Amino acid sequence: MAVSDHVDLETFIKGVEKRNPGQNEFVQAVTEVAQDIFEFIADKEEYHEAQILRRIAEPDRVVSFRVCWEDDNHNVRVQRGWRVQNNNAIGPYKGGIRFHPSVTESVLKFLAFEQTFKNSLTGLPMGGGKGGANFNPRGKSDGEVMRFCQSFMTELYRHIGPDTDVPAGDIGVGAREIGYMFGQYKRITGRWEGVLTGKGMEYGGSQMRPEATGYGAVYFMQNMLKHKKDGIDGKTAVISGSGNVATHAAEQITKQGGKVLTLSDSGGFIHDPDGIDQDKIDWIKDLKTNRRGRISEYTDEFTGASYHEGERPWGVKCDLALPCATQNELNGDEARTLVDNGVIAVSEGANMPTTLEGVHIFHDAKIMYGPGKAANAGGVAVSGLEMSQNAERISWNHERLGTMLTELMEGIHDKCVKYGDQGDGYVDYVKGANIAGFKKVADAMLAYGVV
Ligand code: NDP
Repeated sequence: MAVSDHVDLETFIKGVEKRNPGQNEFVQAVTEVAQDIFEFIADKEEYHEAQILRRIAEPDRVVSFRVCWEDDNHNVRVQRGWRVQNNNAIGPYKGGIRFHPSVTESVLKFLAFEQTFKNSLTGLPMGGGKGGANFNPRGKSDGEVMRFCQSFMTELYRHIGPDTDVPAGDIGVGAREIGYMFGQYKRITGRWEGVLTGKGMEYGGSQMRPEATGYGAVYFMQNMLKHKKDGIDGKTAVISGSGNVATHAAEQITKQGGKVLTLSDSGGFIHDPDGIDQDKIDWIKDLKTNRRGRISEYTDEFTGASYHEGERPWGVKCDLALPCATQNELNGDEARTLVDNGVIAVSEGANMPTTLEGVHIFHDAKIMYGPGKAANAGGVAVSGLEMSQNAERISWNHERLGTMLTELMEGIHDKCVKYGDQGDGYVDYVKGANIAGFKKVADAMLAYGVV
């Protein structure tokens, strides 16, 4: 018999720690997935023999490169860029690009690993990748952002392609940055092709892509509630973040009759007991995407709201919670507070926003908990549809894509239930997402043999 990886979970995790020293986020993400997969593959010798989990937890490659650019005062600035191509067993690498000072190789490896399972869950042919740079777009002029994006793409272009690796936006990378990067790719290669998603509507972008992640996270929550014969109408929601995901989640909660009480940014959160309705959401979208201001300015505009500097919103009593800002933004104590305040469902718009301790608290309290890899998959799903439209040189309308998104989110929810139903009426959505996502990738890898 071939050498098997029949080690126990603890030994496996120790190995991951040893091979990835100091990469805490990556180890955290692998640990979370490994717990469920070990149970699932306990009696499946073929996965052990082929060392499937060990292989998925070792990126196909990590490319790191220098990004040199000139600021407005003609100072030469140097940043580090990365592309992590985790796994392309079921389709071209696919995953966003993040520009934020907190970006490290560990953060991108964790995101690319998670992306592999998320993309698999959508049912579309997409592998997992992620990229970014430790560049802070905040406070930079348009010209500086453009020069940075062009320099970043001048190196990245050789590693990507419509059938190889198709990046998208993420934190700090919105329509403006995608436009600059796509323009530079086209300039260098002389080719117009669907190499990035999240593009503007004028040049190959898809309807519904801007809304897809935030709306999708709310559709996932709607499906969890529906499974318990409940709904969003009349419920209060606490949301973190005020970027693409958070504002669209707020919009969809409002559309379904819920009341949004909070939004935040890295400076603090605003609490509006009257509810953050569509007009207020539109004002915040303009503040963040055009005026590039801070969420604290909300209280100058709308009376009755308060701003809480340096704090996160999880202490505000609510029925529904949607973390939509960043990783590890909801810890064990905050999860406990949400539970004590009567939260019934949590749907993650962000990637890994809840710490492992927080996840255990939600599970122990039998709270409906939709992890990011399932709940925020709507964004990449519509990106997959953008790839299809680009390949066919067509564009589908808003209504058609809206229907496809709701169906995709329902499908993801149902796969989670299939593999995560605990038999006592409680669904472990983390387990369901991990196993369903893993199985498709693993079976493809088995088919390829040792590659
Ligand atoms: P944006 O850049 O549009 O917004 C990010 C928001 O989070 C901003 O309000 C930002 O505040 C806040 N934020 C960032 N870092 C921190 C921090 N360390 N502490 C507190 N707040 C912080 O990003 P997106 O909305 O696109 O992404 C949000 C999350 O959703 C990320 O985890 C991303 O990976 C995930 N995601 C996004 C998808 C998409 O389609 N965009 C798809 C799937 C997942 P500030 O303005 O102060 O920086």
